[in-house]
Amino acid sequence: MEKQIYFDHAATTPVDKRVLEKMIPFFTETFGNANSQHAFGRSAMKAVDEARDGIAKLINAKPSELYFTSGGTESDNWAIRGVANAYKNKGKHLIISPIEHAAMITTAKALEKEGFEVSFMQVDGEGFVNLEHLKSIVREDTIFIGCMMANNEVGTIEPIKEIAKIAKSVGAVCFTDAVQAAGVLDIDVKDLGVDMMSMSSHKIYGPKGVGALYIRNGLKVESILTGGHQERMKRGGTTNVPGVVGFYEAFKLAIADREKNFEYVSSLRDRFIDRVLAEVPFVKLNGPRENRLPANADFSFKFIEGESILFSLDLAGIAVSSGSACSSGSLEPSHVLLALGLPEELAHGSIRFSFGKHNTLEEVDYAVETIKSAVQRLREMSPLFKAEGDIKYV
Ligand code: PLP
Repeated sequence: MEKQIYFDHAATTPVDKRVLEKMIPFFTETFGNANSQHAFGRSAMKAVDEARDGIAKLINAKPSELYFTSGGTESDNWAIRGVANAYKNKGKHLIISPIEHAAMITTAKALEKEGFEVSFMQVDGEGFVNLEHLKSIVREDTIFIGCMMANNEVGTIEPIKEIAKIAKSVGAVCFTDAVQAAGVLDIDVKDLGVDMMSMSSHKIYGPKGVGALYIRNGLKVESILTGGHQERMKRGGTTNVPGVVGFYEAFKLAIADREKNFEYVSSLRDRFIDRVLAEVPFVKLNGPRENRLPANADFSFKFIEGESILFSLDLAGIAVSSGSACSSGSLEPSHVLLALGLPEELAHGSIRFSFGKHNTLEEVDYAVETIKSAVQRLREMSPLFKAEGDIKYV
C-alpha cells in the first residue's frame, strides 16, 4: 500500500480545509493587531470577539470567562500555577491525578520545589479515579484539584462532576484538562461544575499553537504570562488572530458533527480492538472498554518494545505513537500505564492508535494485518518470547 495511514489523531489532527479557508484572510487582509486602535485593529478584534462569544456559548460559559492561550500546555500551566500563586495564603495543598498530561505533572512538581505540597489521586487498573480515595485526601488547606476529562494515552473518561463536588466540599478550585475531550464529549462547564478548563485547537482539526482557558468569573487567578493589556490584562502577548478564528471554526464544526463523528470513529476503533484482541496473541488492551474516548485504542504487546512495533508500522506507512506522543522520544515507560499498575515491560511495550474522521475501515483492516505480521516477526527475534511462548498473557 503506497498510501500513508495516519492513526495518531490524539497527537494532532490535520487542519480541516474549511477551517483553513476561514483563517487565510486573517493572515493577509485582516492582519491588524487586535489591540490596535485603528480600523485594522478593530476588524481583527471583531473576529476575536466573535470567536470568544461563540466558543463560550459552546461550553456554556460567558465570553468574559474565556481566555485565549497558545494551547493546552499553557492553559494547564496557567491553571495550576495561577491558582497556587493566588491562594497560597489560604493553603498550599494541590491534588492532581497521576495520569495527567506532562504539562500538569511537570508544573506540579516544579511547584513542589517552590514550597507547595502535591498529592496524587489513586486510579484503578483502567485509569478511573478512585473517588473514595480522593475524599480521604482532601483537606481544609487543599486549594486545587485537577483531573483531566479524558486521558490522552488510554482514553479513560473521568467522573469530573463527582470530582467537582468533592472539590466544592472543601472550597478548592476544580480544574479539568479537556484537551482530548473538547469537541468529542459534551462539555458544559456549569453542568460539570468546574471552575477552570483547558482546551487546545489542534486536536480538533484546528491550527496548532492556540487554545483557551476557561476561568469562572469571580475566581482569583494570577497571570503567568505578564506583558501587555491583552486578554483583559490577564495574558500578555499579541493575539493570534488567525489561530483564534481557526480554533472557533474547528470547534463549531466539531460540535456540529459530534454525534456523526463519534459514531463513525468509534466503529473503526471497535472493529480494530475486536480484531486485535481476537487475532494477536499476548496482547493487553489498556484502559476500559466502556467510558473511553471514541478514537482511542491502546495496546501493550508482550515480549516486544513499543518502539520496535512503531518503527515496523512506520515502514509499512502506518503512523502511530508509543506511550504519550508528547513524551515519545524519551525511553521512559509511560507514567500513565505505570499508574494503572502495569509492570514496566508492558508499560514499555504500549502503542496508541487514535483514529480520525478521514480514516477508513480498509485502513483499519490493513493495519491489523500489518500488526499481525510485525508482531510475529519481532517475537520470533525475542528471547523472552521463546522462554514464555506457551503461556497466554491475560
Ligand atoms: N493535555 C492533554 C490531555 C493533551 O493530550 C495535550 C497534548 O497532547 C496537552 C494537554 C497539551 O496541549 P498542546 O499540544 O496544545 O500544548
